Amino acid sequence: MRTRVGKRLRRIIERPASVELTKYEKLLPAIGEREDDLRDRSDDDLGRAARELRTDGDFSTEQLIEFCALGREAGRRALGERAFDVQMLGVMGLLSQHVVQMATGEGKTLVGALAACGHALQDKRVHLISVNDYLAKRDAEWMRPVFELLGVSVDWVEPATTHAERKDAYGCDVTYGAVSEIGFDMLRDRLVTKADDRVLPRPEVAIVDEADSVLVDEARVPLVMAGSVDAGVVDEEVAKIVRRLRLGLHYETDSDGKNAWLTPAGSSVVEKALGGIDLYDESGAERLAAVNVALHAHALLARDVDYLVRDGKVQLINTSRGRVAELQRWPDGLQAAVEAKEQLPPSDRGEVLDSITVQALIARYPVVAGMTGTAVAVAETLREFYKLEVAVIPPNTPNIRVDEPDRIFTSPSQKLRAIVAEISQVHEEGRPILVGTQDVAESEELAEKLTKAGLTCTVLNARNDAEEAEIIAEAGKPGTITVSTQMAGRGTDIKLGGSAVDAAERDKAVELGGLYVIGTARYPSSRLDDQLRGRAGRQGDPGGSVFFASLEDDLVMAGAPDVPEGLAADDDGEITDPAALRHLNHAQRVVEGANQEIHRNTWRYTRLIERQRSDLLTFRDEVLLTDTAAEHMRAEERERYDELAEQLSEETLAQMCREIMLFHLDQLWSDHLAFLADVRESIHLRALGKETPIDEFHRAAIPEFHKIINEAKDSAVKTFADTEVTDDGVDLAGAGVKRPTSTWTYLVHDNPFDSDAEQALKKIRGTLRKKRR
Ligand code: ADP
Ligand code: MG
Repeated sequence: MRTRVGKRLRRIIERPASVELTKYEKLLPAIGEREDDLRDRSDDDLGRAARELRTDGDFSTEQLIEFCALGREAGRRALGERAFDVQMLGVMGLLSQHVVQMATGEGKTLVGALAACGHALQDKRVHLISVNDYLAKRDAEWMRPVFELLGVSVDWVEPATTHAERKDAYGCDVTYGAVSEIGFDMLRDRLVTKADDRVLPRPEVAIVDEADSVLVDEARVPLVMAGSVDAGVVDEEVAKIVRRLRLGLHYETDSDGKNAWLTPAGSSVVEKALGGIDLYDESGAERLAAVNVALHAHALLARDVDYLVRDGKVQLINTSRGRVAELQRWPDGLQAAVEAKEQLPPSDRGEVLDSITVQALIARYPVVAGMTGTAVAVAETLREFYKLEVAVIPPNTPNIRVDEPDRIFTSPSQKLRAIVAEISQVHEEGRPILVGTQDVAESEELAEKLTKAGLTCTVLNARNDAEEAEIIAEAGKPGTITVSTQMAGRGTDIKLGGSAVDAAERDKAVELGGLYVIGTARYPSSRLDDQLRGRAGRQGDPGGSVFFASLEDDLVMAGAPDVPEGLAADDDGEITDPAALRHLNHAQRVVEGANQEIHRNTWRYTRLIERQRSDLLTFRDEVLLTDTAAEHMRAEERERYDELAEQLSEETLAQMCREIMLFHLDQLWSDHLAFLADVRESIHLRALGKETPIDEFHRAAIPEFHKIINEAKDSAVKTFADTEVTDDGVDLAGAGVKRPTSTWTYLVHDNPFDSDAEQALKKIRGTLRKKRR
């Protein structure tokens, strides 16, 4: 028994990071043999051959070989890009539902397009999911000629796409779209009252580009759909009370300004002012949540730093991008609390109608595959959350980039000085330099320093993705210094010598050692470090990279603030003691672990919500697609029903019943979401010491959910009885059936309520400390 368990355990532990590629490699010669024959065929012949492959099952090995050969020929003919053997391996990896790891510049765009064709020919609809709208459009248009040769229809969606165009786009075999765009469509589809208004077909295949970024980094980002409702639900009483509270006496904040809490003195002031309630027992939960948001708005959000008040409205400043975040708002309670703090009238307040996390969105596809330059580092996460395996594809030409050892300094100012010196020295010969910073603010600070030192640089400041792509495409030109965040301009190819293919410029860049990448600090994961490094040395080009770090960097402060003492530094503050690097790596691992922990924890909550939503949608679909609602009304309100039938056509009556029932269902779901948010927040506050807040969450969430369908039916019957038919037809509004007058969608990227991060870090640090003892 024990040995069997041991064996299994060992198998799991020793499971390789990559799936075996031999079975794909074996097919390469056969694919190559088809090349000459296909090259002589006409375009029409090629299309016909592809059509003949169309099947409603899976490709046989012969069909797979033929498909790969056709794909290679189509790429060659349409784009002048004959897919390399490694790209063929990538295509087969994607068709086998893996996440393929292929370095930056290895040509994943073509690989993804060919795999999409392969799925399409096997009778599956494919969504090619990009990280932003710009890339979705670029890739679809770039690859369109390949799709056309193979007779596969393709289109893309972006925010400006109209409803009718969207339906067409999703009607194609392959649709490119940003993850947010497709997610928002899914949310909108879930709230239609006529089946015909839906734009998305049933999800079938998702091929995710930059898979680690979407599936891991953004996994827990909620896509939200909100609708306007009557304003005036602000707890002004609470706002007024909280405004009088004083720091140190009534409340405390933590050093990084992320959390604020009432002191016992503060609690009793608030409790007294609210009429002697007990904030901390079950009945005070709602009030406690209101006090908490008000305190958050009062103590942690500063006017002109975190938000502006403009035209009588609160506008968020995105602190990492340093500009007004047009479409973003805080979670609703907080938005209202800040408005109350500024004594503004409540804005056209949104009520969250529905939401879905990126992870849950992807989970809706029965077939998922992905591609990225850095997958191995998240292999465990991909396995745990998506049951995906990684296939590591070697580069077409070996990578010769030189990664220099990290340069570590005592303080950030010493580090910054050294970075400027390094840039200035390397720039002297004209070697192109790409500097990767942590955020826009840091980019701008560095640019200022470089300008002072007499150096000219280009800064990417996240204005828009297309502009960024244009700038980053030139980063390989000799004499260029480009300063950018890690994310900026991703997906854009950096050619040595610049985007205009100029042999002399390219030769010069090569001679100088290729692109030199400088990281100004280590990122929250080594995978992100590698992504930045990967910008240099593409397709066997020369290139180099180096990271600078200081022992006071945010990463160190978050992950391992107790820096070892007595590390010797030189006059410039540089530390060469290997203990410094060990400490830095340790801090990074702690932060990586914490992020994984947060991911896991968020999933625990969202999984329950997703399951409830999905159960409810099954019922909602029944109401939408059948006459269930009408039958229910007839059973409950026979007289009224017959009366109205006489006045209305069968169809109008059925639609009326449907709209009433859907209205109540959607309303109750929206209320349920708000309830869950409150529960989670108050549990969080009460349960800091407890082990299992998630159990408590379940205890509250499950019974409430089970009431929804019956409540919706009961309310619908009441509304039905109240609905009048006037000369203008059925007066649903008169009976209170008012759907939101406008709806909007947004992503919640920086949730200021997110104390999860701090919790997770504490936990991980604690565990590690125990282990070390
Ligand atoms: P990735 O997404 O893997 O970083 P891209 O798809 O952006 O890479 O491609 C990088 C560059 O390589 C592009 O300029 C593309 O045109 C080129 N490329 C891709 N595949 C081939 C090929 N088989 N032959 C020639 N050039 C190719
Ligand atoms: Mg790419």
